Amino acid sequence: MKDPNEILLENEKAFKSLFEHATISILVTDEKGDINLVNPNAEKLFGYTKEELTGKSIELLIPEQLKDKHRHYRQQYFKAPKARPMGLGKDLFALDKNGRTFPVEISLGYYKLGRKKMAVAFITDVSERKKAEEILRSSEETTRLIMNSALDAIVCIDTDGYITVWNPQAEKIFGWLESEVKGHRLSETIIPVQYRALHEAGLKRYLTTRQHTVINKLIEISALNRNGKEFPIELTIIPMRQKDNDFFCAFIRDITERRDAEARQKEYAEDLKRKNIELEQFAYVASHDLQEPLRTVSGFVELLKRHYKDQADESVTKYINYITDASDRMRRLVQDLLDYSRLGRQRILEPIDCNQVVADVLSDLTMAIQESQAVIHKEQLPVISGYATEIKQLFQNLISNSLKFRKPGEPPVISISVIPNENHWQFNITDNGIGIEEKYWERIFVIFQRLHTKAEYEGTGIGLAHCKKITELHNGKIWLDSTPDSGSTFYFTVRKRSNDTWVGKGNKV
Ligand code: ADP
Repeated sequence: MKDPNEILLENEKAFKSLFEHATISILVTDEKGDINLVNPNAEKLFGYTKEELTGKSIELLIPEQLKDKHRHYRQQYFKAPKARPMGLGKDLFALDKNGRTFPVEISLGYYKLGRKKMAVAFITDVSERKKAEEILRSSEETTRLIMNSALDAIVCIDTDGYITVWNPQAEKIFGWLESEVKGHRLSETIIPVQYRALHEAGLKRYLTTRQHTVINKLIEISALNRNGKEFPIELTIIPMRQKDNDFFCAFIRDITERRDAEARQKEYAEDLKRKNIELEQFAYVASHDLQEPLRTVSGFVELLKRHYKDQADESVTKYINYITDASDRMRRLVQDLLDYSRLGRQRILEPIDCNQVVADVLSDLTMAIQESQAVIHKEQLPVISGYATEIKQLFQNLISNSLKFRKPGEPPVISISVIPNENHWQFNITDNGIGIEEKYWERIFVIFQRLHTKAEYEGTGIGLAHCKKITELHNGKIWLDSTPDSGSTFYFTVRKRSNDTWVGKGNKV
């Protein structure tokens, strides 16, 4: 058996060690509020040595504005002392040697030393925790702000499918207030009847297997508003986790307007296509049927000419010549129009060696090239897929325009090159001719639009309209860049296809 005194001594030693090594700060005061004991952790916390604190009033460690209150509480405490947390529900603050006020949590204990009543304060600095709480609070505040000002409707549900978040934009597009739907099942509000089972099953599947088809993707679906009207929405569902709780947020947009615009656009495009077809048919029928009366006019003018060959006076001959010229020109216009409406009617795509096409075109234009002393540069061109007659016509029109619209007294220099883009071949035909003012860059592609009289430059104004139609038939476009008096570059594209190459059979380059 141990001597009780020895046990007491051992206990005292143990408590002393506890006191010295405790990671909590401990202060012992008497009823007057004078500090009797200070552990090392309290020295560290307040920045005073125990010599500086012992015998001093506890008020040394209390911020000025709280001193009165503290005095009052201390007196109250000693009336009915017991172990309890101090200042429950209130924010407590302490003051250190450097004058820093910081938030603390304090537990109080009590014992008697002879006849003296002693209070033990266990003090924890909670500045870090408060800071973290503040950060959390402000991040919650930010979240709320984002929710309130988001342009998207934000709707969140818990794992049982009950609505937990419903922001103002959701109120706006669905018509229910947050207070009316929070805590209700999503499937009983905005999800149309036909999708409800799917939604429930999808949610269950995700929670058990984490398999999903709609999560983290932009999907288009329909939703119900408060009036039961179904309307198209676009949404992304994102699974989230907070404090061990899964939940799902959907970011939703009403796309009714976009859908309407798309429908209008489609209708417009279809209407345009229909009108174009009608116009082409009209052009075809008109030009075809015009040929007959034209032939009659030409025939009778010929007869008139012959009939009055010897007897006609000067003015009759002049008038007859006018009629002949006019009907010739009309025949050419009608023929052009007929050709235009026939473009692309034989739609058979075939490999076309553009090097060969250009060689053929240049050969057809030999006379004009020689007369004008034109110099023509051609890069290696590809073998494309296209409509052979039309592609030849395209090169023919552009090259012959470059020759035709040359500057007087200066031999034309023409370069033909190509740039392979991702989906298209882009051809460039550059000349050093008279150029075109920018205000005409669109107009010249319109059928029968010309910038010159036929006396200045021969033509009917259909060449570029043909070119435009041909590039469109090849899913491409045509445009230009030009400086008046200096030259033009016409660019056109045709869609690239998988079997296009650089070297063709007839390629002599
Ligand atoms: P046309 O050659 O029968 O007049 P186009 O449709 O081929 O008809 O051309 C329309 C107009 O565009 C021409 O009248 C001319 O004014 C202008 N143009 C076309 N190509 C060139 C060019 N390479 N340089 C300058 N002007 C051009």
